[in-house]
Amino acid sequence: MTTTIIGFPRFGENRELKFATERYFRREINQTELLNIGKALRKKHWALLASNHITEIPSNDFSFYDTTLDTAVLFNIIPQEVKALGFCQLDTYFALARGYQGEHGDVKALPMKKWFNTNYHYLVPQFEDATEIKVNGTKIFDEYLEAKSLGYNTRPVILGPFSLLSLTNFNGQSSVEKAKSALVSAYREVIERLAELGATHIQLEEPSLVKDLTQEDIALFVELYEALYEDGLSLKVLLQTYFGDVRDVYETLIKLPFDAIGLDFVEGKRNLELVQQYGFPTDKRLYAGVINGKNIWRNNYQLSLGILKELPKDQVTISTSCSLLHVPYTVENESFSSEITRHFAFAKEKLTELNELASIYFDEKLEALTNNQQLFDGTRIQRNEAVQAKLNALTEESFVRLPKFEEREAIQKDVFKLPLLPTTTIGSFPQTQDVKQNRAKFKKGEISQEEYETFNEKKIVEWLRFQEKVGLDVLVHGEFERNDMVEYFGEHLDGYLFSQKAWVQSYGTRGVKPPIVWGDISRTDAMTVRWSKFAQSQTQHVVKGMLTGPVTILNWSFPREDISLKESTLQIALAIQEEVLDLEANGIRIIQIDEAALREKLPLRQSDWYSEYLDWAIPAFRLVHSQVKAETQIHTHMCYSEFTDIIRAIDDLDADVISFEASRSNLDILDSLKAHNFQTQVGPGVYDIHSPRVPSVEEIEATIHRILEKVPVSKVWINPDCGLKTRQDKETQASLENLTQAAKNIRGVV
Ligand code: GLN
Ligand code: ZN
Repeated sequence: MTTTIIGFPRFGENRELKFATERYFRREINQTELLNIGKALRKKHWALLASNHITEIPSNDFSFYDTTLDTAVLFNIIPQEVKALGFCQLDTYFALARGYQGEHGDVKALPMKKWFNTNYHYLVPQFEDATEIKVNGTKIFDEYLEAKSLGYNTRPVILGPFSLLSLTNFNGQSSVEKAKSALVSAYREVIERLAELGATHIQLEEPSLVKDLTQEDIALFVELYEALYEDGLSLKVLLQTYFGDVRDVYETLIKLPFDAIGLDFVEGKRNLELVQQYGFPTDKRLYAGVINGKNIWRNNYQLSLGILKELPKDQVTISTSCSLLHVPYTVENESFSSEITRHFAFAKEKLTELNELASIYFDEKLEALTNNQQLFDGTRIQRNEAVQAKLNALTEESFVRLPKFEEREAIQKDVFKLPLLPTTTIGSFPQTQDVKQNRAKFKKGEISQEEYETFNEKKIVEWLRFQEKVGLDVLVHGEFERNDMVEYFGEHLDGYLFSQKAWVQSYGTRGVKPPIVWGDISRTDAMTVRWSKFAQSQTQHVVKGMLTGPVTILNWSFPREDISLKESTLQIALAIQEEVLDLEANGIRIIQIDEAALREKLPLRQSDWYSEYLDWAIPAFRLVHSQVKAETQIHTHMCYSEFTDIIRAIDDLDADVISFEASRSNLDILDSLKAHNFQTQVGPGVYDIHSPRVPSVEEIEATIHRILEKVPVSKVWINPDCGLKTRQDKETQASLENLTQAAKNIRGVV
């Protein structure tokens, strides 16, 4: 009877690691203190696994920042400029993670990217001509020995060579081709050294195998592992995959000499079918990921057993679908009623589940099964009949806005009479200390509702006057009432729950606390009308209403598992639709519906993009605005311009105007807008708001000229590339002055 997990969250029950690391960054604690906190956390987590009878315990899943970065450092994939700082191991590591600016030099942080289909972000290793692969770090060995001294013979974990190469950037003349043989030797050295220290197993993680693979990719994978196995290995290898199925390489995988293969049976839809169709070799162990490592709900044992029953029992180790990194620590710290918490399993509770499932599957102890079944037999929530009825009443027309885009465009040009190259912003103004304090005091009951609102109104008026003064064409109220673009709506919608401590690491020391979709979602009251209406009453100019779209709200929440993502999203869409219509009825003539996280749940395989996601996500957005009048202008905003490959879908949102980040990605998107004859009017951000730097008028003019080379002038809006909430007042005002000046200058010449 064996159980394991792929990895455990490293932040700590109370985010101890985050706070300690940040204290170290501020030099409030020294290195030894930080290292000791890391050590204490590992000890606690290993003990927790052991006390929950997890039979195989991983190590080196801990990280001070990111495990991909740990792997890069282990193999000495460190840019020269960072080495040149001459720092110790840990500070070199943090310089890679966060950049360094000071007396020893000035280096940028490594780029950060979304980790597959999660909201976790990894650091992208940079390979250069001068990079010399060798075993450099000692973390993996140290942590193995540390666990051993505590009595745990762990299975060290590292990212496998295929995924490491796929995730690395190769700069200059460097290439996979040139790097691969040295890399394989270094992996072999790590494996042999671990064996000498007493390890028996290693977990090589190859999540890149669940993506669409070409013949060349598969050939590279085979070549790497054949080379690794050339003289045999002294450790047993668990080749671990997650986040999907391995349909392109299953047959290859089972022929290679791995001792064990780890498959995800939660997100890996085809994995069971693959095992059934091609069989599973009798000389290998099968690590069956049946406990969902990404969601917070209790496992349905009946369903998991249904999968496990199809697998060769005497070869099976029960595991999680992916690392538990993506779920919070424990339900025990929440204050929900037990009626609610009994449906949740965070990381700690998932350990119990593994153990219970193993006792049912291997030992046929059925008690846990009966209890679990009761949880799923009973109705967890009262379905909201009004919401159900609205969903059932949806027809094809519900998703289509009429009249068509071209007609609306003409009508809107006529009613708004905006100048050429209209200027606007993305919504929020700086969330300065006073703004945050006002909200916090109100939440704590330290000030009255009236005091709270008076402050916000004053802020709104100040910023309206500023926007009028610099001559912005479409104004915003500034979002001073919002903590976060999803949480704000979650708090106002019926059907959401908010946790106290359900933090999940997003990157480095940053965590997010996603709201939980508990029941059917509905709008009980207006959410934003009060503020938009107030702002509009204070100015002659048009003020843009500001909402978050249904796909983004869902993607940044913990979704339900008892209904589909599509259904939940449509429920949210109906609620936001009500708000849109309410804003319209209250005199708001332009409404922006942000879809910052539209790409978040885009399937990893391109072949699934439309059928599994975009085919319902895009209509959900259309539903939100389909009922508005022709003269009401709908804007949307996406944070990244990474939509070249889904450009048709973006145009299908059928918004009237879209703004997006473009300045940092070098305006690459413009070519593809042109090539696809993009219909929606566009505001490619003309400056980067992620930096305090103030762009000059000339610089912005140059950017606008570049945009006009590719997009007809009648389609272009001028705006920053995202909301301004993270900036300070001064730089924001200076930048917007320059932005409006640049637009005015260009209007004179086109
Ligand atoms: N309207 C939001 C804001 O301006 C959009 C934020 C975002 O795109 N991340 O803050
Ligand atoms: Zn944005």
